[in-house]
Amino acid sequence: MQVEQVDLAQLAEQFGTPLFVVSESRLRANYRRIRDAFAASWGGSVNVMFAIKTNYSLAVRRILSQEGAGGDAFGPGELMATLVAGTDPARTSLGGSGKATAAIHEAVARGVRITVDALDELPRIAAAARDSGRRAVLTLRSKPRLDELNDYRSVASPYRMGAEIPLGDWVWDNKWGLTLEEACEAVRLIEAAPELDARGVHSHVGRHYGYTPQYVAAVPGLVRWIAELRDQTGWAPAWVNLGGGWAMEDDPVLRGPGSQRLAGGHPEMWAHPRGPIEEIAGEVCAELRRRLAEANLDVPVIELEPGRYIVTDAVLLLSRVVSVKNQPGIARYINVDASVAHFPIPELQDAANPVVVVDRLAEPLDGATAIVGPSCFEDLLSWGRPLPVLEAGDLIAFLGAGACADSYSATTNAIPRPAVVLVADDRADLIKRRETIQDIFNRDQIPERLWHTSPA
Ligand SMILES: *Cc1c(COP(=O)(O)O)cnc(C)c1O
Repeated sequence: MQVEQVDLAQLAEQFGTPLFVVSESRLRANYRRIRDAFAASWGGSVNVMFAIKTNYSLAVRRILSQEGAGGDAFGPGELMATLVAGTDPARTSLGGSGKATAAIHEAVARGVRITVDALDELPRIAAAARDSGRRAVLTLRSKPRLDELNDYRSVASPYRMGAEIPLGDWVWDNKWGLTLEEACEAVRLIEAAPELDARGVHSHVGRHYGYTPQYVAAVPGLVRWIAELRDQTGWAPAWVNLGGGWAMEDDPVLRGPGSQRLAGGHPEMWAHPRGPIEEIAGEVCAELRRRLAEANLDVPVIELEPGRYIVTDAVLLLSRVVSVKNQPGIARYINVDASVAHFPIPELQDAANPVVVVDRLAEPLDGATAIVGPSCFEDLLSWGRPLPVLEAGDLIAFLGAGACADSYSATTNAIPRPAVVLVADDRADLIKRRETIQDIFNRDQIPERLWHTSPA
């Protein structure tokens, strides 16, 4: 079995397991597909800003920078990673809530824009602009009432004792964005500060069900918010950033049992097939154009912040079977060297990632199995799937492993994180070395006095 023209068994031999394997051509194709889908539908300028939180490989970021992708960075770490890979600062934004003053200074000094999430950021951004002698370009993160989204039941709300509430209310409850009143105040403050330049409006609802009608339903409330802001202040944005959350047709999370449970509440949910990105882009852009025209708003540029759409299926996690424990009537446990500590999506989000037994496709099936990792948690990577009869040494690949692995990973049981290899045609390059046990404990120190045999 190969990724591009490289044999997986050969990669396991050369780089060891567990191993993340990135396909360069799939990564580029995913980026181009979402960019082209929106460019074709919008008919104007589209800026695609990769949400780096979904993948921390600098080489991945570098490939997307070569493609011309801008960046969405939360905090100084993601900003550093985005810029180190050569991303155009003018197409990069520092987002996030609770921004540290140092991160604001770094962003403004490098010519990165800021997505404003709170009024008290403004005096700090102005000070940073004066210090660096640059005018700071700002996008206002909106907190609109998205009433049309209330047809959709959402995840449990931590603000309401865990009750499951409609999606529009869930977005409203979240910490992000400026209310209309705050945005009016922000525009007044910005217009009084020559070092600040408000240019755009930002919104991010997220992926949730990933059905086309969900994305369309988020548009009217956003446009109402922009129109009211314009009516009250006279200011209108030059661009609208639609955020991330764009779904792949066969996204492992959206196919998993967790999301099926959630979607149970919506009448048309299962009747409506999950559309390709071209359908989503077409309907969202048409709705946005229509609503903007109705409100007499002219917005030439849209921006997107896709993360998972670009990286999810460009990466697989290759692991080796360490031992097999067959307990008839209970389960056949396939112990592998990969762990949900480093690939948390199947467990955290109840996802159904495809599982492939490498080079054993044609073999007989062995009934239901549980593929488990070595940590002290349940560490359930896959369950209930019929697989060939497996033994120690066999290789298993988990597909769709590109999103939120590093960024959600933990050092559970001091198990080092996997290496990452980049495959392009017939070549394979190590792009992140395997973590060592030393790496995990590198930050520790035992004070000298504790080495005495009894307490002082
Ligand atoms: C998480 C996030 C994204 C990326 O979301 P995906 O679902 O991975 O596309 C984009 N923008 C913001 C503000 C986010 O929080």
